[in-house]
Amino acid sequence: MRISGLCMFLLPALLCLNLQAQRPPKAIRHVVVIGVDGMSPDGIHQANTPHMDRLMREGAWTLHARSVTPSSSSPNWASIIMGADVEQHGIHSNDYERDDYILPPVVRGNADIFPTIFGEIHQQMPRAEIGAIYEWGGFGRLFEKEAVDYNQRASSEAAAAQLASDYIVAKRPTFCFVHLDHVDHAGHIAGHGTAKYYRSVERADSLIGQILEAIVRAGIADETLVLICADHGGKGHGHGGLTMAEMEVPLILYGPGVKKGYELPIPVFQYDHAATVAFALGVEAPMPGLAGHRAAPSKVLKCPPATMRWPLYSKGRSFFMVKKATSPQAACSGATPWCRSRTRSRAKSAIPSMAAPRDPGLRCTKKPFPSASRRW
Ligand SMILES: [Zn+2]
Repeated sequence: MRISGLCMFLLPALLCLNLQAQRPPKAIRHVVVIGVDGMSPDGIHQANTPHMDRLMREGAWTLHARSVTPSSSSPNWASIIMGADVEQHGIHSNDYERDDYILPPVVRGNADIFPTIFGEIHQQMPRAEIGAIYEWGGFGRLFEKEAVDYNQRASSEAAAAQLASDYIVAKRPTFCFVHLDHVDHAGHIAGHGTAKYYRSVERADSLIGQILEAIVRAGIADETLVLICADHGGKGHGHGGLTMAEMEVPLILYGPGVKKGYELPIPVFQYDHAATVAFALGVEAPMPGLAGHRAAPSKVLKCPPATMRWPLYSKGRSFFMVKKATSPQAACSGATPWCRSRTRSRAKSAIPSMAAPRDPGLRCTKKPFPSASRRW
């Protein structure tokens, strides 16, 4: 039997065994997500980012996570907090409003929108302290306000970081989402790949450092998962299209139990993040069955066929994401990308190219959305 055939045959069994053994890490009691609007992998690569570099050295990361299409802010922030793709949550562009949209969500939660991780934590952990601090006001229409104890729009990136830091120290939140918008502004005004853009990434790094310091001051550093993400990259003065410069984004995970210096060897998508946060806190992700997450498939299939939306979290020394998994994409192309041996690199310079290798397994997915270059 060929190796790939062997993988295909054994994987479902391996997957089931892993699922039963996996439990959320007990040490995690807090999750802080810092979302930097428009921060591209190139930005991290080129700018001087000591804080993010440290988180990468001491955590797990990828600079090849992928945005949902179109690579605009609203669809991507929605996917990040909803754990779903555009065709599910329906937030297809920045023109979306709760009372003015084209595509309705396939499922409506309490706030009449697709359920988010804010609402899930609130419902499943009634005592949880939950905060949302965001520089871009549009973020506020994407989640259930009633699920959040501290809902604050910030007037600037500095204000967002300060509000978040004060909140973390004062309340030690179970879940805190911080959105910084200034890097996106730099991309639109000065242009992506310019010195001003890289300086804005350096400023984001400095603000991330400030929030990390607050986590330490709050006395919760040893039980906090930090997740750094971005909604999209950019090209020229905009984004919204399908180029890799627009579609590739970073993901950095840091905290107890996270594998150190570990470059994620698997495809990572925006809708993975909510499942990762949920796993870390021991709650169910938004609409797990719908997203192919771990709960519902057991009723339909003995083993879920894909790990695409599973938590990207490590347990002890073994990376939580099951490496030897197959996916519908792999199956339809004959490729088994997770059967390849892992690569590992600690230095950013080891990243061969900003353009991720083409994965033949992704070719048979749905057709892309039309490109729409927008201001946001
Ligand atoms: Zn954006």
